[in-house]
Amino acid sequence: MPRERILIADDEKDIRDLCARVLSAEGYQVRCVENGLRVVEVARQEPFDILLTDILMPGLGGLEAAQAVQEFAPDIVCVVITGHGTMDMVIEALKLGFYEFVAKPFTPDELIRAVSHALEREHLRRENVRLKALLPLFELNKVFMSTVDVQPLLQQVAEVARQAVRADHALLALLDAGCNRVLTRAASGPLLLDSLWAVGEQGWRLARQVMQSGRQLVVQGRDDQDGAFADLMSALGIHSFIVTPLAVRKDRPVGILVVSRDTEGDAFTGGDPELLAVLSGQAAIAIENARLFEETQRAYQELRQLDQMKSEFINIAAHELRTPLAILMGHADLLESELEGDLRERVQIITRNAMRLRDLIKEMLDLRQLETGEARVHLEELSVQQAIDEAVLDMASLARAKDQIIETHVPAGLEPVRADPQKLYIVLSNLLSNAIKFTPPGGRIRVQALERGDAVQISVQDTGPGIPHHLHDKIFDRFYQVEKSLTRAHEGMGLGLSIVKGMVELWGGQVWVESEMGKGSTFSFTIPRE
Ligand code: ADP
Repeated sequence: MPRERILIADDEKDIRDLCARVLSAEGYQVRCVENGLRVVEVARQEPFDILLTDILMPGLGGLEAAQAVQEFAPDIVCVVITGHGTMDMVIEALKLGFYEFVAKPFTPDELIRAVSHALEREHLRRENVRLKALLPLFELNKVFMSTVDVQPLLQQVAEVARQAVRADHALLALLDAGCNRVLTRAASGPLLLDSLWAVGEQGWRLARQVMQSGRQLVVQGRDDQDGAFADLMSALGIHSFIVTPLAVRKDRPVGILVVSRDTEGDAFTGGDPELLAVLSGQAAIAIENARLFEETQRAYQELRQLDQMKSEFINIAAHELRTPLAILMGHADLLESELEGDLRERVQIITRNAMRLRDLIKEMLDLRQLETGEARVHLEELSVQQAIDEAVLDMASLARAKDQIIETHVPAGLEPVRADPQKLYIVLSNLLSNAIKFTPPGGRIRVQALERGDAVQISVQDTGPGIPHHLHDKIFDRFYQVEKSLTRAHEGMGLGLSIVKGMVELWGGQVWVESEMGKGSTFSFTIPRE
């Protein structure tokens, strides 16, 4: 059922009544008037979708009345009713944009057809307008996808905005929060509008008004708006303009988009402000993204520099610490062999702690090598059994001190692997030292090797407290420790596992942990055969 409202105008009562009866029976809401003046009067009071009007009426004719109504209701669909002898006027009416005509005498079907045709054409026209409005948005989206630099983005937005509303000039300016300074700007068309700032206080007042209210300003014609902008417009040589705030959040615009037309009688049309509002919304988001991207890039560069400095610092500090530490350890060793009793024990404490310091320095240097990409693998043919035995032997005293048992399981015929012996040793001893550290006294540790696909997998299984599932990836990060450093019961800097990961990945293997809280953890890594 159609729901459109129709205003019927004819000076012949019979025709009016006939039209009203036929069209209301179709479901339209109708209202009848008898002359052109009444058409304008009634159309001002209530909205109509269609004007069905006779051409020749006393006083104001149908065409003139329709034109007057279109001034304030531009979307109204006009259909002409005409008698013989007015064909010239019908042609005139069609030229003026009237959609259809019905010639007297007409049948009810002809009338219904004319009205529904006119409506259909209007729907098509609106659809067309919508598509046209979507086109610039589509163009703009393509630009947004392809650029993250603010300046070219501003330029493109200005170009697209100017073309979308067929403006003579477009200006896009990003302003500071206080609206006192132009941060960046781009203009399209002859650069007339760019002199908005050269106009002085008037230009700034305009920008502030829109930035502070967050509302679009549409000024049509030189004398509009109580002449408030008349001076500005004549200084800029423009006739009508629209200023739209650029804002991701409505209350915080970051700039303005100004479009203008030079010629009188060439005002902006109904959909232009809306189109510009949508364009600016999209542009504001893209500009914000581009700005964030630039900021992130800058922060990233700074971080890289800091990282480099840190790496240098670690390198120098670690090397500088090594010499005094070696002297200290040498003398402590001498003293230990010469002293006895309580004094000897104290020197042993010095030696133990010096060795811890040496291990920490080594960890720092290993990590630095991995991070800077200086680390290289030197592959050799190795027996897995031998590599595991060596690492286990070196850790045996630590395990013994906690009454722990270390078991090893390597299949008898396991073929040798090609691996870097030093790095494999570092990986195994780190995993073993963690297993010993976190397993309670009297616990059991198992080191196992097995052939898995085209790699050898080595696992170190402990009977420690286990690691919560959500931290299984995190513990491989640098400096990450499950226990908070201030309340920690175990020694370490949180570097061991990140070194393990770095080294295993260096030879193309993988490392992971499986763990159940309260039962223990199994750290596994692979050495690819190829
Ligand atoms: P750390 O020097 O602190 O041991 P790691 O990088 O070797 O540094 O280990 C990081 C963290 O992972 C440890 O602080 C600990 O919280 C956890 N972790 C490592 N191995 C084990 C394990 N076998 N059992 C329980 N937790 C472990």
